Amino acid sequence: MNATCKLRISQDHFKILFDHLFQGDGDEHGAVLLAGTSVSDGQTILHVREVHLAAEGTDYVEGKIGYRALTPQFIHRMITRARDEKLAYLAVHNHASDRSVGFSRIDLDSHERGYPALLQISRGLPVGALVLGTRSMEADVWLKDGTRLGLESAIVVGKTIRRLTPRPRFSTNGTANMFDRQIKMFGAGGQRALSESSVAILGLGGIGSLVAEYVARLGVGRIYLVDDDHVEETNLSRIIGAETADVVGHVPKVEVARRVILQANPAADTILIEGDFAKESVVSRLTGVDYVFLAADSMRARLVFNALVHQYLIPGVQLGSKIRPDEQGSLREVMSANRPVRPGKGCLWCNQLIDTNMLAKEAKTDEDRKAQAYGTEEPNPSVISLNAVSAAHAVNDFLLDFLCLRPEAETLHYEHFHFLTSKRSLVEPRRDPDCPECSITGSRYGRGDGIPLPTLEG
Ligand SMILES: [Zn+2]
Ligand SMILES: [Zn+2]
Repeated sequence: MNATCKLRISQDHFKILFDHLFQGDGDEHGAVLLAGTSVSDGQTILHVREVHLAAEGTDYVEGKIGYRALTPQFIHRMITRARDEKLAYLAVHNHASDRSVGFSRIDLDSHERGYPALLQISRGLPVGALVLGTRSMEADVWLKDGTRLGLESAIVVGKTIRRLTPRPRFSTNGTANMFDRQIKMFGAGGQRALSESSVAILGLGGIGSLVAEYVARLGVGRIYLVDDDHVEETNLSRIIGAETADVVGHVPKVEVARRVILQANPAADTILIEGDFAKESVVSRLTGVDYVFLAADSMRARLVFNALVHQYLIPGVQLGSKIRPDEQGSLREVMSANRPVRPGKGCLWCNQLIDTNMLAKEAKTDEDRKAQAYGTEEPNPSVISLNAVSAAHAVNDFLLDFLCLRPEAETLHYEHFHFLTSKRSLVEPRRDPDCPECSITGSRYGRGDGIPLPTLEG
């Protein structure tokens, strides 16, 4: 198995699975995961949508050949459901291993006996197995063309983002001296994780340009820059790196961001997408990234971002700042927001952050939409220092959570900074259990490429 796949699973699902497999009895237990699939840069990604625990003695019993096995009845029920729901089928068991894990010869023999038949039943959807150690995971996933995939990494998406691999990874890359001071905080291993990570920044205006600078200086390896706009004179007060010549030359905002990134870290890999991320052709290039920063304040952007997080189980954050004067022009509200969004933890729909009236307004012609690029007809007031609060907190969260530098939190919080009252409020996102976008039973959750994103035509 040379080719590999990735697996994404929410922290809540992973906990249910892990607690069942490692019950403290030192024994082996079983389960089945059903997962949506997607392909990004040629690599298969599995997005866990359903967890089915195998009941001891009923679904998981003494095996004829191996130690224990899922019963044929349970397997049949699961593979039929996988086929009907158009999901991949993954049988799971655990080994008494810790940081390294792999299938036994007996495990692999049973895959070779069973999976060709399951592939027939699944009508070509991937089937396979996962084996878990307490801090490791391996896969043997079968595709219809006969390819078998091992596991590159499993990503457990909670507030923190944990990676499980079949064995500890010893990277041979050195780390550049420029990162010395931050390595003193999170170690060379953390620096390597950043250099191997990829993030997408949606919107390279005031906030997005700051995010670009921050993630570049942190040493993030690959940065997708998405914006269809060019630099205008009114941007000079806020866009990092923008110059008057860029205004004259109608330089795209993504170009300015790339310039800033490469000045900060010449080794960074920048991917410029000068397009509207509400278009399928644009957003489909982002389904393999590790983290999404939404720094564009249109409802359509929120709609697509929200779907991306829940359909592909990609952690993300929505950033923004807002200045609201009253009729007389006095300031009523000056605030910045940092809203982390995670699969299964409540979404932008559940929290009424997607305004359907505004969404309808935005769905006009391209010309109208350009006039409303910031969500309203009149451009909103905007100030760099407010943007910086939002950007800094969002990148800080990314750093701490992506490198697991703080413990997993039970609850997620939106962070709102109210500058007129010098208050910071933490708001726990609402979660509508029946939300069609983000609920576990909703239509979108974990479906991957199985259903279209709510985008405009290509
Ligand atoms: Zn085994
Ligand atoms: Zn929701």
